[in-house]
Amino acid sequence: MIIPVRCYSCGKVVGNLYEQYLLLLDEDYTEAEALEALRLERYCCRRMILSHIDLADDLVPYSVPVVGSMPAIHAAQTPTPARRR
Ligand SMILES: [Zn+2]
Repeated sequence: MIIPVRCYSCGKVVGNLYEQYLLLLDEDYTEAEALEALRLERYCCRRMILSHIDLADDLVPYSVPVVGSMPAIHAAQTPTPARRR
């Protein structure tokens, strides 16, 4: 879907590097060279970029439009939570 903002393991911000990574690949960098150019040295951060598959544009045709609106809930209709005794 969308690249995660941070590395799952170490927490480094990697989400902003994905577009640059793709641009480097278009400039005939290898994957390893592109990751080195982006200064991604840890394996955990490298896997975040390498293993990402961008499906957002592929899934857009299958999205369902939202029809109508949600009914308004008035304060008098909301149930009050039961209290423990
Ligand atoms: Zn990491």
